[in-house]
Amino acid sequence: MIEQLPLFPYLETQESQRPPDFIPVYTPLLNGREEKYVLDAVRSGWISSLGRYVNRFEEDFARFCGVRNAVSVSNGTVALHLALHALGIGPGDEVIVPSLTFVATANAVHYTGATPVFADVDATTWCIDPADVARRTTPRTRAIMPVHLYGHPAPMDELRALAEEHDLLIVEDAAEGHGAQIGERMAGSLGDIAAFSFYANKIVTTGEGGMLTTDDDALAARCRMLRDHAMPPQRRYWHDEVGFNYRMTNLQAAVGVAQMERIASLIARKRAIAARYIERLSGLPGLTLPAERPGCTSVYWMVSLLVEPPFPLTRDALILALREQGIDSRPFFYPLDMLPPYFSPTPRPVSLQLSGTGLNLPSSPALTDAQVDYICAAICALASR
Ligand SMILES: *Cc1c(COP(=O)(O)O)cnc(C)c1O
Repeated sequence: MIEQLPLFPYLETQESQRPPDFIPVYTPLLNGREEKYVLDAVRSGWISSLGRYVNRFEEDFARFCGVRNAVSVSNGTVALHLALHALGIGPGDEVIVPSLTFVATANAVHYTGATPVFADVDATTWCIDPADVARRTTPRTRAIMPVHLYGHPAPMDELRALAEEHDLLIVEDAAEGHGAQIGERMAGSLGDIAAFSFYANKIVTTGEGGMLTTDDDALAARCRMLRDHAMPPQRRYWHDEVGFNYRMTNLQAAVGVAQMERIASLIARKRAIAARYIERLSGLPGLTLPAERPGCTSVYWMVSLLVEPPFPLTRDALILALREQGIDSRPFFYPLDMLPPYFSPTPRPVSLQLSGTGLNLPSSPALTDAQVDYICAAICALASR
């Protein structure tokens, strides 16, 4: 089965090898008060996980998501792991995740000793397909972990109905969906608990970092204790169970506070970039641009394209042709059930198809309109070759 997916020779371009006008897939925008706040944190001496930026970042993030609690952690992967662990998921349990996502979604399940079960995704939104989740639900299923893939919200209302019917928990993997909405409801408030990532290419960054959001006060308190070696706040060096050191530093949080000050403009810029791409590229034969389901607001973490006949180049040939013109792009993720740790002999057909045809275009909020136009012109020229 694995032969169906050629191993695309994807090479990361090192900073030193890039020509000066090279357009990377993502660069973080750190031109607000990031530098000022980091310097302030350094000068204050509060550089570990106690410090006022940590508290402020958590408060700002909770308010942004419209939830009662936000718990900062050291990255998005441990946010997912901590959420599952705090909910009591472990050996013998099954957690349903989409086949098409970043590997950390499934790894977090694996770390708990539970088994990730892969559901296919929807051909239009590229997010987990509730009908396939229903088919894969068994008496051992404890939770569903939907992903807001490339910034489009997963079908949370349909998943909530399934979760209620089968008594399942919902852990949102919102690592790619800061600010995504269903109606007026924000990503991060759509499940029992949600996990965000602040890696350098995510919509909000702290270098490395993550956040849990939840309306459940007891669950938030449990996550706070577990991220700090399971040490009860009122009894130092006492540990009732095995915890973790998953804390965020005040230096990271200083960057996060500065990012949150202009989150609205970051998201607006991302939506404007997506609209510009869609306007210039839609209608080219063989190219499919991202869809936005009615009632949903995508934040277009990555503006993506599906490349199929009659487009004159394959997806992989298009990536190489763009790179020759100084434009970076990325293939979609491999379906996780095709990777050696999670191999299954029966692939999820939609995930497999998308994985072979999808690519992510440069999507940084730092892109200029002129750069987007240059990229679109390059693709249009290749389309008529
Ligand atoms: C980035 C990402 C993660 C992991 O976040 P890190 O901060 O890199 O650990 C998890 N899930 C998805 C869907 C992601 O895109």
